[in-house]
Amino acid sequence: MKRRHDEGVKADAGRNYRAYPTEDQDRVLTGWGHTARALWNVALEQRVYLWEQRRYTLRSVEQCKHLTAARAELDWMGDLPAQSGQQILRQLDHLLTTIAQIAKLTTRRANRRRDFTHKLTTDLAKNHGLIGIEDLRVKNMSKSAKGTAQAPGRNVRAKAGLNRSILDNTPGERRRQLEYKTRLYGSVLVAVPPFHTSQTCAACGLVDPESRKGCGRLFACAHCGHEDDADHNASVEIEARARRTGGLDINSTRSIPRVRVPAVGRRRMREAPTPVHAS
Ligand SMILES: [Zn+2]
Repeated sequence: MKRRHDEGVKADAGRNYRAYPTEDQDRVLTGWGHTARALWNVALEQRVYLWEQRRYTLRSVEQCKHLTAARAELDWMGDLPAQSGQQILRQLDHLLTTIAQIAKLTTRRANRRRDFTHKLTTDLAKNHGLIGIEDLRVKNMSKSAKGTAQAPGRNVRAKAGLNRSILDNTPGERRRQLEYKTRLYGSVLVAVPPFHTSQTCAACGLVDPESRKGCGRLFACAHCGHEDDADHNASVEIEARARRTGGLDINSTRSIPRVRVPAVGRRRMREAPTPVHAS
């Protein structure tokens, strides 16, 4: 066999060799192939059965014991080298954990997100009289950055990452829930213009991108020296804007504040009773 060191291939790189077995050897190898396939199918079936029937996850460690027993009982199974059989079972482990992990993670992540958003919006609407949010146009922000064949979009990668983080945080769904829950609990939702909320100092009010220079989560005002977590600083600014009601007040159609009257059974809202002595 000619080795090709001159082509720069490392001496320890993987190589394929073609074997030329004798007729007898060929028969044995073919037999092992059939056995390996049968083992794979039976082992897979066993796992699926146990999972469906008893929600039990069978792994290769346990199946290797079954294999040992099967090798003693079945000649054709015993002919397959033990390591080959164990290797097949371990490959099944790998395949199934990968599939199961992906399916589980996707479901769990979606559930957790849904659950979290509902808890958050209920708490906000129930326990706070005024809720200020940024009036973000989620759909526009997550629009495709691909562009057209004639005018391909730029920063496609960055936009793709942004899309994911925006949709993961589901601000659209959060807002939808806040809109109906504030109505339900009698609190007020105000959407404020989102411009420069992250660059505005909550202490002195000055807008300066320099205040967010160290692109981390820290806000450090370039003018008054105020320091805060960037998200918290922005939230204080959003609250201030909401209080000034400079934004579009979503649930402001009422003139009389509603109070929640706890009732047995269904939750209901009533108008605040007008004092009798009022004139
Ligand atoms: Zn400042």
